[in-house]
Amino acid sequence: MRLSRYLLATLREAPKDAEVTSYKLMARAGMVRQLAAGIYDLLPTGLRVIRHVERIVREEMNRAGALEVSLPVVQPAELWKESNRWDEYGKELLRFKDRHERDFVLGPTHEEVISDLVRRDVSSYRQLPLNFYQIHTKFRDEIRPRFGLMRGREFVMKDAYSFHASQASLDDEYDKMYAAYTRIFTRCGLEFRAVEADTGSIGGSASHEFMVLAESGEDEILFSDACDYAANVEKATFRRGEGPIGTLPVSGMAEVSTPNLRSIAEVSNFLGAAAQTMIKTLVFETSDGYVLACCTGDRDVGEAKLKNAVGAAWAKFAELTEVEKKFGVPVGFLGPVKFPGKLKIVVDRDVMRLQSGITGANRTDFHLQHVVPGRDFQADLVADLVTARAGDPCPRSNGTLSSARGIEVGHIFKLGTKYSEKLGVTFLDEQGKSAPMLMGCYGIGIGRTAAAAIEQNHDDKGIVWPTALAPFAAAVVPLDLRNDDLCTAAERIYQDILDAGIDVYIDDRSERPGVKLNDCELLGIPYRIVLGKRGFENGIAEITDRRTSTMQEVPLGDAAHYVRERTPNTTRSA
Ligand code: ATP
Ligand code: MG
Repeated sequence: MRLSRYLLATLREAPKDAEVTSYKLMARAGMVRQLAAGIYDLLPTGLRVIRHVERIVREEMNRAGALEVSLPVVQPAELWKESNRWDEYGKELLRFKDRHERDFVLGPTHEEVISDLVRRDVSSYRQLPLNFYQIHTKFRDEIRPRFGLMRGREFVMKDAYSFHASQASLDDEYDKMYAAYTRIFTRCGLEFRAVEADTGSIGGSASHEFMVLAESGEDEILFSDACDYAANVEKATFRRGEGPIGTLPVSGMAEVSTPNLRSIAEVSNFLGAAAQTMIKTLVFETSDGYVLACCTGDRDVGEAKLKNAVGAAWAKFAELTEVEKKFGVPVGFLGPVKFPGKLKIVVDRDVMRLQSGITGANRTDFHLQHVVPGRDFQADLVADLVTARAGDPCPRSNGTLSSARGIEVGHIFKLGTKYSEKLGVTFLDEQGKSAPMLMGCYGIGIGRTAAAAIEQNHDDKGIVWPTALAPFAAAVVPLDLRNDDLCTAAERIYQDILDAGIDVYIDDRSERPGVKLNDCELLGIPYRIVLGKRGFENGIAEITDRRTSTMQEVPLGDAAHYVRERTPNTTRSA
């Protein structure tokens, strides 16, 4: 590529609203431009990177035996009504009417459409298993689309859906996808980790998220230092202690005045009791109504865990003002004993180990002491509710959990028969009996993967691409365009690298050397081949490795070879 005929479109400043490094750098490097909130144009440089991610994903999906299809973005509402997600999906699902007043949606995901295809075209166990994938546009009307390609409203996803006649077959395909994802992110040059993920209310099914490790990640992951246990904090568990907590009650339950003391720390200090012996009580709003949740005072209740415990579609911490208004109970003094309002009481396992505890009296400025769970209040449900944290003992080994931040770039999921039952995706088994197919689904955010690569690989000068994703593997930069011999030599190097099938640009713009060098660093080109006046007179080019910043003087005739040797075959275009 000749930069004189290219739209580089680099910027000195990032857009004002850019909050994350990857978006700032993508904008500055001329990769993307925002058209509307969460909707982006991809410029030539941006598209090059996206195509690299897509190619790696496509090659590995094909290698794993998945079949590429292309499904419509515009989907009829009827299918979404069949699966019930017309009602369940919420506002991320963009709905609209056509000229005949028929309802449609812009596909945020394609379980319904692929299920419809399979129910029409596949009917026998002999045709199974099948795995279909596509790499294409999704639309989700995200509430805060502010992180560039990391969280867009319109974005490109690789989504795959597999169909099976047996659980063993689904398990097998899941393992294959796990392996394919491992190869994909390894080839992309990313430091990543597969972690156990929340499966939602479907239950029993397995799910893993592939996390690119980066400080700026939205997700927290916990992992063991002694075994390969790793999980999203939403799902992570830890080895619980056994036996009773605290001391036996010295008397029956009794009220104690705690004037204006609302927090766990304030009350436990005041009463000289360990935080662990406090019964923390919280109200959650769920898809099935309000729930009272209790845990020991040294812990927090996780939303995903609570949601799964009660089998709801969603659960969130209720607004404090809402709780006061709805139940007439002052926040800070909530407790499970005679809570006004018939709420289901869900209690973390450790609460049941308390010999006696302290909790809010549901009355301003009062708490209850010597509260015995099971005696003074009844739990409707005992479950694993609390969030694990760094330092907790690993649930699988003698290790300890550590914490890291990650960006979810991929997600694999055993769906079971959730969709096939609703949509009637059945097959005839060997006995000629009809049964719903088992399904798996497997997603990768293409743009998010590119953005995550930047979050993990950048410095103060710009992007530092892993070679496999770089828009160009090399740049040839002649600094003096008035020197014809120098330009001819640069041309030759450029042609030789092109001939080797390697993406390369030559900076033949009449720009100042500083501009050319800065652009090259901002773009994160792995190898920069500079031809300056003095070096050229001595027959050498200066080749700089973007990652290590080390410069090497290489004879002009060896420059192309130098790049060829260091550029993996898999990243070449021919
Ligand atoms: P998140 O929790 O980040 O919203 P999700 O769980 O909704 O993601 P999935 O439905 O599992 O995402 O989608 C599969 C993959 O698609 C994700 O792993 C992610 O890489 C990508 N993805 C999801 N939403 C977006 C988005 N708004 N912009 C870019 N990529 C996305
Ligand atoms: Mg996900």
